[in-house]
Amino acid sequence: MADVVVLGAGIIGLTSALALQEAGAEVTVVAAEQPLDTVSAVAAAVWYPTRIDADPRVLGWGTRTFEVFKEEASSKTPGVTMRPTRMITRQATARPWWAPAVPDFSEEPGEWRFTVPAVEMVPYLAHLLDRFRRNGGTLNTREIQSFDDLDATTVVNATGLGAARLTGDEHLYPIRGQVVVVENPGLTTSIRDEHHPLGPVYIHPRSRDVVLGGTFEVGDADRTVRPATAEAIIERTTQVEPRLAGARILQHLVGLRPARHGGPRVEVEDRIIHAYGHSGAGMTLCWGTAEEVARLARET
Ligand SMILES: Cc1cc2nc3c(=O)[nH]c(=O)nc-3n(C[C@H](O)[C@H](O)[C@H](O)COP(=O)(O)OP(=O)(O)OC[C@H]3O[C@@H](n4cnc5c(N)ncnc54)[C@H](O)[C@@H]3O)c2cc1C
Repeated sequence: MADVVVLGAGIIGLTSALALQEAGAEVTVVAAEQPLDTVSAVAAAVWYPTRIDADPRVLGWGTRTFEVFKEEASSKTPGVTMRPTRMITRQATARPWWAPAVPDFSEEPGEWRFTVPAVEMVPYLAHLLDRFRRNGGTLNTREIQSFDDLDATTVVNATGLGAARLTGDEHLYPIRGQVVVVENPGLTTSIRDEHHPLGPVYIHPRSRDVVLGGTFEVGDADRTVRPATAEAIIERTTQVEPRLAGARILQHLVGLRPARHGGPRVEVEDRIIHAYGHSGAGMTLCWGTAEEVARLARET
């Protein structure tokens, strides 16, 4: 396979770079931000197709990604685990379109229960970068203004929201997400209550902390932390899980999800393979997307 430049060092760029290396390509990653400075590092990050429409392609990528993370959880890959989840449904709701990807999905009165991969993105992104470098890859930190700045045979465009400027794609838009990270008072089960009267609730325990969310602010590109939003998140998550009362706050985080009308763009355009627009589901869809990128590169 020809040499490839992957543009972007978030979860989509790094998993694509690894899938391409495994397919025999020599890969360079070029990115304005290092992995730990990307939106990907802010993600909670739990397998769940958030803010993404039902689509057979998405179900296929999600199913494959679930399988890869499940294997990684059993081989103790840094940051990867399987997390039991309770999802409060509040109103009668049809079985979700993504249920076929989740082997133990069950419907109980007032809630769905399932076990899904959960990934601590900071150690996981560091692990992916390390794997990429051990395979002989290099990461160059720089912002490019145009694909013409890159003289590779094949370029993978994994720039998330940055793709709007590079491609002129008007279907891309931000969905702002703010979360609060607190000390873990002993929680082990994720809870989702998307239709809580005070606003969307998610509570995702990790090894040492718990991610409390969240917000879905469509079209809002403000990356600063809003104290009032943080207070409201703490109030409603504590209402759902009283053991959170008084938990010490460790961090406030904000990220912009790269949402796209029509779903993620994963397709070839001349020498460019686009792979962006994964909305609130970049971790959920990453390995399936990466394998498709590698398949497209082989055919290009
Ligand atoms: C609060 C929050 C919670 C979330 N929780 C989850 C979750 O539980 N599960 C889940 O699946 N997803 C979750 N997400 C969504 C997930 O974070 C995104 O879908 C994912 O990070 C997108 O990854 P990406 O690689 O496409 O983009 P990014 O992580 O944004 O990476 C883009 C890369 O492209 C580079 N780039 C852009 N433009 C240029 C340029 N011109 N030149 C050079 N480099 C460029 C950037 O520097 C960066 O390296 C969450 C998001 C937020 C904000």
